[in-house]
Amino acid sequence: MRILEMKVTPCAITDPPLRSAFGLHAPYALRSIIELVTDNGLVGLSETHGGTAVLHDLELARPLVIGMDPAHLTSLEVALDGRQAGKPGSGSLPGGYLEQSRLTLPTLIFGAIEVACLDLLGQYAGLPLCDLLGGRYRDEVPFSAYLFYKHAGLGGSDGFAGESQAAKHRNDFLVRQALSAGELVDQALEMCARHGFQSLKLKGGVLSPEEEVRTILALREAFGPQTPLRIDPNGYWSVETAIKYGRQLEGVLEYFEDPVSGKANMGQVAREVNIPLATNMCCTSFPEIPETLQTGAVQIILSDHHIWGGLHNSVKLAKICQTWNLGLSMHSNTHFGISLLAMTHLAAAIPNLTYACDTHYPWQVEEVIEGGKLEFSGGSLKVPDQPGLGAKLDQAALAQLHENYLRCGITRRDDVLEMQKIEPGWKLRFW
Ligand SMILES: [Mg+2]
Repeated sequence: MRILEMKVTPCAITDPPLRSAFGLHAPYALRSIIELVTDNGLVGLSETHGGTAVLHDLELARPLVIGMDPAHLTSLEVALDGRQAGKPGSGSLPGGYLEQSRLTLPTLIFGAIEVACLDLLGQYAGLPLCDLLGGRYRDEVPFSAYLFYKHAGLGGSDGFAGESQAAKHRNDFLVRQALSAGELVDQALEMCARHGFQSLKLKGGVLSPEEEVRTILALREAFGPQTPLRIDPNGYWSVETAIKYGRQLEGVLEYFEDPVSGKANMGQVAREVNIPLATNMCCTSFPEIPETLQTGAVQIILSDHHIWGGLHNSVKLAKICQTWNLGLSMHSNTHFGISLLAMTHLAAAIPNLTYACDTHYPWQVEEVIEGGKLEFSGGSLKVPDQPGLGAKLDQAALAQLHENYLRCGITRRDDVLEMQKIEPGWKLRFW
């Protein structure tokens, strides 16, 4: 099997005005959809981050992808990385690898291509993708409710979701403002009633730590101690703030995600607060793992196949976590069903997935795969039985989402700029 064609389609998906320490989500979030077409007529799908830097790197990778056997992923990874290339006995490398080492995001680009190749191999073998990752360990994958402080509105403007979708959702959590503890509890109750999530994560670093602790305690009051809670200030609390407010949340949080920035600071908080610390910020690559362990920075790593170099590398990360007695959860960005299915196959094949995965999926109303939005049941997604990822592209939806991209004028994410549009002079701040 050889890859004959690589189609990359930049898309913009309607995204509500969600808040984080970084600012405000823009009306559209960018994603890149990848289709690999083979000489035997199969089409492998993948989805990764959007924006011009990613699109530029995908174009640099194209000459290596065209003509390759989708099973020969190791050579592609080495070639894209460049740093490991040329060692004696390293076997044949695709031509032009030195040229490709100019990629700024080689790990992300490899991960994006790898998922599409594994989709192809699964289709070719007649096996669901999880069975290429060691095999299905669970039939359903649990996800958590991802709660955000937000402004009123659905996002978008004149695109696919547009006015009619906003009208349809006018009274629900997708559109309503949530800027207080009470409004956050209402958001959580509605999201969980709709999707059945059994655990809750609050994006923090937005309001004062006092207000965010109040929100967590209100969620505890509303949902009871059987519902695990997390908060993620994205590294925008000081060490003093994290210790002070973390201690107030001992016995309440299942984990404390990136309260502070950097491994040494995380290690300091970990020694002072009796809650496991988690990260998708201070350890996001294999070379960072030794220092992460040495500093005692975290007890849980949030994997992300987009960031860690694909699904096989994420399985390797899981093994390292198991070896070093670290917990494992999963990070998410705004995404379509293609990424959700890849996350689900990965989680299905990892025995030591110790926490429900994050997902932004309930915040989006559009979908790019046939059949529309995937449905959670009891907060979990069923692992597909079909070969590969188990999805086909809806070409009409893809065309519309690409049209959104062309019309929205956004070429890279800038949450600070979006925040300044509604609060002139707004700046990033450490609490
Ligand atoms: Mg995080």
